[in-house]
Amino acid sequence: MVIQADFVIINANELVTLAGSSETPRTKEKMKDLQIVNNGAVAVKNGKIVAVGATDEVLGQIDEGYEVIDATNKLVTPGLIDPHVHLVFAGTREDELEKMAVLGISYLEIKEQGGGMNKSLKLTSETSFEDQIRITSKILDKMLIHGTTTIEAKSGYEMTFHGEIKQLEIIKSLNESHPLDLVPTFLAQGIPPEYEDNSDLLVSEIVEKWIPEIAKRNLAEYADVFCEKGYYNLEQTRRILLSARKHSLKLRNHCDWLAHSGGTRLSAEIGDIVSVDHLIWTPLEEVDALQGQKTIIVFLPTSPFCYVNKYAPAREIIDRGMPVALATDVSAANMCESMQMMMTLAVLRMKMTAAEALTASTINAAHSIDRAHEIGSIEVGKKADIVIFNAPNHRFFAYNYGINLAEKVYKDGNLVAVRGRRTDSDSS
Ligand SMILES: [Zn+2]
Repeated sequence: MVIQADFVIINANELVTLAGSSETPRTKEKMKDLQIVNNGAVAVKNGKIVAVGATDEVLGQIDEGYEVIDATNKLVTPGLIDPHVHLVFAGTREDELEKMAVLGISYLEIKEQGGGMNKSLKLTSETSFEDQIRITSKILDKMLIHGTTTIEAKSGYEMTFHGEIKQLEIIKSLNESHPLDLVPTFLAQGIPPEYEDNSDLLVSEIVEKWIPEIAKRNLAEYADVFCEKGYYNLEQTRRILLSARKHSLKLRNHCDWLAHSGGTRLSAEIGDIVSVDHLIWTPLEEVDALQGQKTIIVFLPTSPFCYVNKYAPAREIIDRGMPVALATDVSAANMCESMQMMMTLAVLRMKMTAAEALTASTINAAHSIDRAHEIGSIEVGKKADIVIFNAPNHRFFAYNYGINLAEKVYKDGNLVAVRGRRTDSDSS
């Protein structure tokens, strides 16, 4: 059979396909098996992958008239996927990060001094829809030029009924206008000062009014809770997640980032939460409680890198057979839009192998947002979300770090970034 193609990427030194895991995420030894084709090729037609294999083999199947993209000495991977992003906020907090790093002031002390989350809630609430679109687009551009083609995008930086609806509408609008795909999540994140002494009242409003309206308007696919010391307690988290499930939202949970909150155990009790994220302080027996469920654990290495210098026990969790993903945790508190950097930290600080880190940033990340049938691997029929890296192999993310190795980024078969610049805009 002769295949028609718009373009073919050929001669890749390593074509990382990650084929064969669209049904279930990779675990244990399978996380190290990237299904690499050396001297590989991938053909694309109408935004979809139509052929994958050794270069000679693929070229032998294709009708003439296609464009050739040479990837000699390069690494080619599926588009990177970032499944944990606090996307919509205004104002930055670089001064606070410096204080925490240099003076050792804690995140909770910053909050008590009127900074932190409350500062972001105020600044974001004061920002118009149009200004917020402009601010947020710049973050998405930076993600795209670093090779990220799909993200999970959380609300949570206004924490009023109208504010959260506005945030989710911004995510919806950007999903339509920006090449990146966004998977929307309503996150119960901060607790505004006026509710600090009565956070149960806020939770009642979220459960009785916000979630039903968000579900009715189809503005979120997931609900998530900041189940952390000083934020939402276990009972409040349970109420919010169960209400969201009742309204057909899928669930995620922030657990054990600042301290041991018990959120992981609660997630296991509630059952089949799609992702539980952070797990820095979680005792391993609480991680074990998630065994056998469809939950993916998402590691966020920037938080330990920026604040606590204690990383989630990734090696132990992977060796126990749990599926894991990586994400940036971009937020107003600290911003690193590059999944390449997450792989650097995963290898150099979390004892994950380079192959495990790439699996966690592609097919397993796709599972953690329920998109593994369309993205996360280079296989016939999937979206042509593909990155050509200026690197000979996948180990370079942890070796040649702190720079952008992405040379060409394809989203739905369109070339959207070349060497750090968007091809279709001058905004990057
Ligand atoms: Zn987060």
